[in-house]
Amino acid sequence: MSKSKIWLSSPHMGGNEQKYIEEAFAKNWIAPLGPNVTGFEQDLESYLGEDSHVACVSSGTGAIHLALDIAGVTAGDEVLCQTFTFCGSSHPITYMGATPVFIDSEEETWNMFPKYLEEAIKDGIANGKKPKAVIAVHLYGMPAKIDEIEAICKKYNIFLIEDAAEALGSSYKNRKCGTFGDISILSFNGNKIITTSGGGALVCRDKETKDKAIFLATQARDEAPHYQHSRIGYNYRMSNIVAGIGRGQMEVLDKHVALRRENNVFYQKLFSTIEEIQLFSEPDSNFYSNHWLSAITLKKSDNQQIIENLRLFLHKFNIESRPLWKPMHVQPVYYGSKFYGNGTAIEIFKKGLCLPSGSNLTDSERDRIKNAVRMYFS
Ligand SMILES: *Cc1c(COP(=O)(O)O)cnc(C)c1O
Repeated sequence: MSKSKIWLSSPHMGGNEQKYIEEAFAKNWIAPLGPNVTGFEQDLESYLGEDSHVACVSSGTGAIHLALDIAGVTAGDEVLCQTFTFCGSSHPITYMGATPVFIDSEEETWNMFPKYLEEAIKDGIANGKKPKAVIAVHLYGMPAKIDEIEAICKKYNIFLIEDAAEALGSSYKNRKCGTFGDISILSFNGNKIITTSGGGALVCRDKETKDKAIFLATQARDEAPHYQHSRIGYNYRMSNIVAGIGRGQMEVLDKHVALRRENNVFYQKLFSTIEEIQLFSEPDSNFYSNHWLSAITLKKSDNQQIIENLRLFLHKFNIESRPLWKPMHVQPVYYGSKFYGNGTAIEIFKKGLCLPSGSNLTDSERDRIKNAVRMYFS
């Protein structure tokens, strides 16, 4: 353990982050509003294009919570959520007193299987309980089959939340992730493609929804000189200090995407000679992944121990790797939840592993990874 640790995905500063923070200090903008928040929102709006409107908040999870509130989800409602995801996608459903119904993945993108989504919607309608919203995710930066998912949500008139927490910089058919559905969310947690240490954003299609999101995120204050409230709100607005980090990070976003994609090319080469392993890759040229995390799976799923032993082997060389997200419908907290699918997400979970993917990986770190992987498989 003498060599320094190689992380899965660690923060990577561009250089100007501190400058924006110093400006905030110099002008005493130490608040959950200010020029950095506005500036970061504008940067994201022009990056995403498509007439996007962005409200920055304190986390991606908080952004999903707000999106569900804006979708009109209330206690007792059902919300359809991709099962193969991080819990930040699904926990806010429970905050609303609503019930998650989990949808399996398809094998190509590992994301929501449109077929099972439609099956769940039809069942819900037949049972007199039409789902109130759908949460689709672009896992590890890989775009979901989002046009099919969007078409199904339109057909049944159901609110679509696009969880693009891992997919800033990805695109599908040349349209950026973060611009699909009714509302999209982003995350700037420490491990994401750009970070504000912690933070998130809600991306909407019109100014009214952005204003509503900001209203809800600042305790739902009515217009009055005193504090007046006619509904329950949240304290979710982003701080002007961390928004300064975000502004600096926007300057290097394209570079970070390019570097993560270079890591993926490195893994392509490395695993092309290793019989047992398949690298998770874009199904065709419609899909452009930021390759936030590069992931591998075993070609045969009957020898899972190979993958767990690889993780432990890399750990011995001080190289971090991590199993894929454990599907939500098999998490203890969600036991007994409704689920539509054929077991694909569990299958992938059992045979997969995420590898170091930071935009700050060095050549010598990549060499250490290459040597360790080759040693393991020789
Ligand atoms: C990171 C992430 C979120 C939100 O996470 P926060 O840590 O709350 O910003 C939501 N969904 C997915 C898929 C994520 O990876």
